Amino acid sequence: MKNEHEIAQGAQTPSTPRRTRPPRLDWAAIAPSVAQLRRQGYSARETARRLGLNIKTLEAHLRRHRIRHAIPMDRPDQVRRTCLNCDTAFVADGRFLRLCPDCRAIFS
Ligand SMILES: [Zn+2]
Repeated sequence: MKNEHEIAQGAQTPSTPRRTRPPRLDWAAIAPSVAQLRRQGYSARETARRLGLNIKTLEAHLRRHRIRHAIPMDRPDQVRRTCLNCDTAFVADGRFLRLCPDCRAIFS
């Protein structure tokens, strides 16, 4: 284990040779904002736009963390669903709704 040396040296080095991966996002800082927007009913797409995130990045994050409890359900006939078109988690007003509000707007 020689990692200590590298960490000590490269703490703030601007010329990091890692170029294959996109910059790591500080999800610990972003997640509360994401959860808040989602609670307010914003779609993943809108949430990503407002936070300046890539939609794919955000969707991957949401899938990873399964934010089941981020969207409150206030009526018994509401169902948690994943949009058939864009995989966004949303709360449907009935069992037969399979598209999120965004996609419904696009397709209707
Ligand atoms: Zn959708």
